[in-house]
Amino acid sequence: MKTYDLSYISGIIHAKAVGNTNFKITYLSNDTRRIIDGLNTLFFALKTNTNDGHKFVLSAYNNGVRCFVVEHLPDKAAEMPEACFLIVENSLTALQILATAHRSSFNIPVIGITGSNGKTIVKEWLYQLLHRRIEITRSPKSYNSQIGVPLSVWNIDSNTRLGIFEAGISMPGEMAALEKMIQPTIGIFTNIGEAHQQHFTSLEQKASEKIKLFAHSDIIIFNRDNEIINKTVSETTGLNTFTWGYQEGCDVRILSIYKHAQNTTVHINIHSDHHRFEIPFIDDASIENVLHCLATCVYLKQEMNETIEGIQQLKPVEMRLFWKKAIHNSYLINDSYSNDLNSFKIALDYLYQQRQSNKLTVILSDVTESSTGNKAIYEQVVRLLKDGRINRLIAIGEQIARFRSLFENEGISTSEYPSTEAFIQALPGLTFNNENILLKGARRFRFERIANILELQTHETTLEINLTAITHNLKAYKNLLKPSTRLMVMVKAYGYGSGDAEVAKLLQFNHVDYLTVAYIDEGIALRKAGITLPIMVLNVEESGYNQLEQYNLEPEIFSFHQLNNFYSYCLQNGITQQGIHIKLDTGMHRLGFLPEETEALGKKIQEQNILFVKSAFTHFAASEDPDEDDFTHLQADLFIKSCNTLEEQIGYSFIKHCCNTAGIERHPQYHMGMVRLGVGLYEGNKKLPGGETTIPVGSLKATVAQIKHLQEGDTVGYNRRFKATKPTNVATIRIGYADGLRRSLGNNVGEVFINNHRAPIIGSVCMDMCMIDITNIPANVGDTAEIFGMHIPVKEVAQKCQTISYEILTGIGQRVKRVYIEE
Ligand SMILES: *Cc1c(COP(=O)(O)O)cnc(C)c1O
Repeated sequence: MKTYDLSYISGIIHAKAVGNTNFKITYLSNDTRRIIDGLNTLFFALKTNTNDGHKFVLSAYNNGVRCFVVEHLPDKAAEMPEACFLIVENSLTALQILATAHRSSFNIPVIGITGSNGKTIVKEWLYQLLHRRIEITRSPKSYNSQIGVPLSVWNIDSNTRLGIFEAGISMPGEMAALEKMIQPTIGIFTNIGEAHQQHFTSLEQKASEKIKLFAHSDIIIFNRDNEIINKTVSETTGLNTFTWGYQEGCDVRILSIYKHAQNTTVHINIHSDHHRFEIPFIDDASIENVLHCLATCVYLKQEMNETIEGIQQLKPVEMRLFWKKAIHNSYLINDSYSNDLNSFKIALDYLYQQRQSNKLTVILSDVTESSTGNKAIYEQVVRLLKDGRINRLIAIGEQIARFRSLFENEGISTSEYPSTEAFIQALPGLTFNNENILLKGARRFRFERIANILELQTHETTLEINLTAITHNLKAYKNLLKPSTRLMVMVKAYGYGSGDAEVAKLLQFNHVDYLTVAYIDEGIALRKAGITLPIMVLNVEESGYNQLEQYNLEPEIFSFHQLNNFYSYCLQNGITQQGIHIKLDTGMHRLGFLPEETEALGKKIQEQNILFVKSAFTHFAASEDPDEDDFTHLQADLFIKSCNTLEEQIGYSFIKHCCNTAGIERHPQYHMGMVRLGVGLYEGNKKLPGGETTIPVGSLKATVAQIKHLQEGDTVGYNRRFKATKPTNVATIRIGYADGLRRSLGNNVGEVFINNHRAPIIGSVCMDMCMIDITNIPANVGDTAEIFGMHIPVKEVAQKCQTISYEILTGIGQRVKRVYIEE
């Protein structure tokens, strides 16, 4: 990595420096969660629609950062005596100027990729095809935005011989800035579709914005059969093209594409040379992505045999990292799909950022192919491990073992094994306890065998929790709130079935204000997992009072009986001040003080002088129902009046809140001091008043155990509820009512989504299995079926069971493995 003097950076971005500029900068960061080497990091306080980085300057300082780019001095500058602040007009512009200057200092070929789909896959596959010959720096994951691109370009260093960066835009006018930073010499325009269309009037307009990425490129590579792109390219002057497609005149001309069951055969002509090759995929998107890569390799004059061989070995791009629960309270990330240092760094960042404890372990194979190994590479590995605060390394392979002393010199406890087999043999004697384990190995080491042993549950029925969707949905709802309205998130019932601690961690990272659980035990579990946010408990039982204090949980108080009880407990235990939340019953008639009781309630609290009202709230009975809006207004009215009475009696004010998810969406005038977000965070497929659509968080999935071919007259399942009227193919999948698949979904009521088709559930649902009709659907044993998720909305399933999403989400059985993914 390159190192810059801070004073030099200050000059480039035209900053006014406050403080000593005597620092060296290697890393850039805009996110306190991702800081690893604070002292050598320059933190950019960026203002986005949903957040203001200036709020996190102190937290970055406490993480060891000393250098900041800010738009004004932060509030607590006096608490950061060693800091240097570079004050600029706009922090994002400064970041982009710095990235542009960095990029300009390297005279190397750079591939810039844009288009509506496939950018990340084309980038990763080009990497797979080219990296053996040439040192490549590429965007991590899909870092392609106004912030992602500068952070990506920053990774170019003196070893880089080729850069591959993607550029994504969501609005007109954005591409020019990305072009300046990437300065692509070679352009790839993948395709044009509906993604991010809302700010564009037409696909043509979006295409003409995207093509600005190639304003100064030597060449642009694209599919000539794509009419919109072809038209846009030909209307732009000064572009040289290199094209592929069926049309005559394409540089890579397709003669035919045949799809087989597992792969695709392609015939092409390049000039007059004929080539034939196999692509190990059969879906159209993958074929298109491969052809972009092929054309690029041809343009770069890579040997055709080598390219064809590489294409045959292309692996699906694993764009998501998975957390799985593992043996002995540990968590496992299996990231054995790629094995370069860049992806290693990304995985380490993720491990650190999402850690569930501070014991961080890496299981790592030989990094390069040669038998001796390259010391410089292992020195980089050591640095990454150290920056990632890894305490334990398990090194597998003959090469990595030679460098043991490098690791030990840095205080990383290291054990080594000559092969994966040797490690597996030794495994029963090793201890793992409360660890966060990253599994990272070259393909030939076949680390999936280790993953299978370490993973706790082997039941393949999983509830995939998409953490990225949670972040997205949270932001979408935050956008509906005034800045002064606080956000409380309901994580009761295991985060609506999504796993409480994991979800709560993410919410804490995203700075929500409050969490709420139903029972004390749920609150204790969150504290044990390291949640420090304030937590409200809805339904406190007397036997748990002592734990409230121990775990710093705040009870809801809903009746005089409970108030008096709790007060006596506090008195007896010498507690002199205790925060509480008052629940008012304005019409739900579940729990709470009635409006006419609030005066007496206020008097009592005032006299007792121990309990401190942090907030008062009520719950709407029908905030989602337009027919009941009069009732909702009445409830809000009663609530406001009751709060006024309460405030008069106790003599101070408190946070007031009444909106649940539907209230947030439909009754913005009642957001008040705080709102309580619940199902909206998890459910998905909801178009919010702000125009954004929420993404489903949970996907329930099961695998095919067996396939049967039935004749007319054959029957399926208990009581022979399904009778075949024609030859029928049936798949048995591993999910039943004990997993939360309602029995009422049987007999053609429910469907699952498998291999791009919907398949009806036939016959009665069994306890652990059910059967689906896959006639005319290509499916194999081991294939995965989605019960609900991205393709089948949970709401649809709920409606078919005549219930609501809440009941479906919270009814997923505990034996279903929760898998956490980040996109
Ligand atoms: C569960 C709950 C909510 C959240 O309701 P949603 O409809 O899921 O948004 C809000 N307030 C209280 C008191 C709750 O119990």
